[in-house]
Amino acid sequence: MTDFAGLGLAQPILRAITDEGYTTPTPIQLNSIPALIGGRDLLGVAQTGTGKTAAFTLPLLHRLSLDTSKPKSRQPRALILAPTRELAAQISDSVRCYGQHLRLRSTAVFGGASIRPQISTLSQGVHVLVATPGRLLDLMNQRHLRLDSVETFILDEADRMLDMGFIPDVKKITAALPNKRQTLMFSATMPKSIEGLADSLLNNPTRVEVAPTSTTVEKVEQHVLFVAKDKKRSLLSELLKDQDIARVLVFTRTKHGADRVVRHLQQAGVRADAIHGNKTQNNRQRALKSFRSGRIRALVATDIAARGIDVEDVTHVINFDLPNEPESYVHRIGRTARAGAGGIALSFCDHEERAYLRNIERIIRQCVPVLEDHPFHAADIANAAPPAKRGQNRKRRPNNNQQRRNPQHTKRISVNGGKPAHAKAGGKHSHGKGNRKTTRSNNNDKAA
Ligand code: AMP
Repeated sequence: MTDFAGLGLAQPILRAITDEGYTTPTPIQLNSIPALIGGRDLLGVAQTGTGKTAAFTLPLLHRLSLDTSKPKSRQPRALILAPTRELAAQISDSVRCYGQHLRLRSTAVFGGASIRPQISTLSQGVHVLVATPGRLLDLMNQRHLRLDSVETFILDEADRMLDMGFIPDVKKITAALPNKRQTLMFSATMPKSIEGLADSLLNNPTRVEVAPTSTTVEKVEQHVLFVAKDKKRSLLSELLKDQDIARVLVFTRTKHGADRVVRHLQQAGVRADAIHGNKTQNNRQRALKSFRSGRIRALVATDIAARGIDVEDVTHVINFDLPNEPESYVHRIGRTARAGAGGIALSFCDHEERAYLRNIERIIRQCVPVLEDHPFHAADIANAAPPAKRGQNRKRRPNNNQQRRNPQHTKRISVNGGKPAHAKAGGKHSHGKGNRKTTRSNNNDKAA
């Protein structure tokens, strides 16, 4: 039973899946869909990129399609809660797409968009409502919405809800749900408070776990580039001279940092835009649209804004700043490995970020290979950055507290398989240590 037909989904849904071009269910879909069709609760430990949206949407649509009566005004039969507007909009698109051959109505409500059309759509009745917590509560408080007809409740990205301070809102919302319901909860990570929330919401759930280490991370070619903080922008524009970096998501830690990077890239002639919490909803949607259509080449984002963004064919993720939460690294690089595809993730690491790198290497249980063949390689930072303890991957050096990065893991490789972005005529750079040879071959010089 490895195809969609074997999972028990209704014909109109199978048709939509075929229209989308999916042939094989992803592991999370294989493991969740039958249980969900059977009405079980589910705890899904998975991140975006695993196919989790279809894993919950397909069985939801299947169950709703069994009763085709018109939805009651202001009383949806299914509620999907997502932490960000972008994610809510994307889930809503998926619901529409997978439900295109069904007579089901759905809508998304989120802040930053006018509430009036949302009120009007709700009053006409929808089967599926996708919402962010704040706007949902507004609508409930203004009596434009009741949750007592909800048969299925789906909480997506619960850990991000926690990070964004939405758990009290989530609790208010769940208190308004009927006790008799099917509940699904997804989270990329399982901190204690999320486990507590799962215990309180779920009834004897099936647990499906898709470990990021064995899915996304392994498909992505990862490199770390040691660079001084004040050289990061120059390094970025240098890398982007390589046109093979066709569609790149650049992550910064702060919103201002994102704006600064965009300005720098634009000055360097790279079409770029930013997406972060200070941007209006319209601005964000426009930036995303331009990125999807290829009108801009670089989208610079903060973690929260980028969460849930689903853009196909992201060729590269560049961590301009390393995230201080190692899980965010997994989320970020997952953007370039959507449902089976691979990609390249390049992470800049300055002096202060060495500890972040160590924590990342610990959770992904890999040593990220060093790319030192670039003009801004900071050998001092590289040598001061020991790789994380990860058993056999690491050679122990007793009697040396300041353990050095194992040269075995310090590969001098080029981005894009021997075609470095930064190659200059002559192909020779001094990389801080004059005695280091570059491994660049002659054809690299053409990439200038
Ligand atoms: P998600 O994890 O829900 O964000 O999905 C990631 C991407 O995978 C989306 O672009 C989906 O359209 C795509 N996708 C989901 N399921 C499948 C599948 N079975 N085969 C191919 N692509 C899929």
